[in-house]
Amino acid sequence: MTNQIIKKKSKSYLEKHNGKIPLCPKNNCGFKCCQFQQGNYIVLYPGELEEAKAQNKSVRHLKILVKDRHGGSKAICTASNTSSCDNGYKPLDCAFYPLFPKVGNKDNQINWFIKGIKCPLQISELHEHIRWVLIQWNQLIQKKPLLEKWLYDVRMIGYEVVNSITVD
Ligand code: SF4
Ligand code: SF4
Repeated sequence: MTNQIIKKKSKSYLEKHNGKIPLCPKNNCGFKCCQFQQGNYIVLYPGELEEAKAQNKSVRHLKILVKDRHGGSKAICTASNTSSCDNGYKPLDCAFYPLFPKVGNKDNQINWFIKGIKCPLQISELHEHIRWVLIQWNQLIQKKPLLEKWLYDVRMIGYEVVNSITVD
């Protein structure tokens, strides 16, 4: 499939779901991705928090644990209404969950993923989401090339490597 077709498909998916996975409510998973009792955290890419604040989005529900050397952050979320993020900013890491991207060492493109193990969804159920995440992250990296170094360094808890993801 050409990049153009992937982009077109992802655009229509974004328009429909804006990162929300239609299968989530049917899973009765208790929205585990918004829980942080297992030492896990959200990561915010360098500049993400500042961009959200500049857009007047509330980040009060995000409790920053530590800043990394690139300017990114680790945070936990204290929102009481997780379906609306307390009407505040939803980090990209949350929008893209259960996937997190990794960059290849040759072309600086995202070409593989790790997947959150607490999410019951199977990779076979995530094809549209994968397409969307792939396009969004590659666009972000093209705009902000320094993010590539951050992606190399950032460490996630509670993820497993997904060996083969095909975008068909
Ligand atoms: S920011 Fe929103 S999606 Fe992310 S953990 Fe908090 S409530 Fe859940
Ligand atoms: S992404 Fe996974 S863990 Fe989060 S609400 Fe959907 S099914 Fe549940």
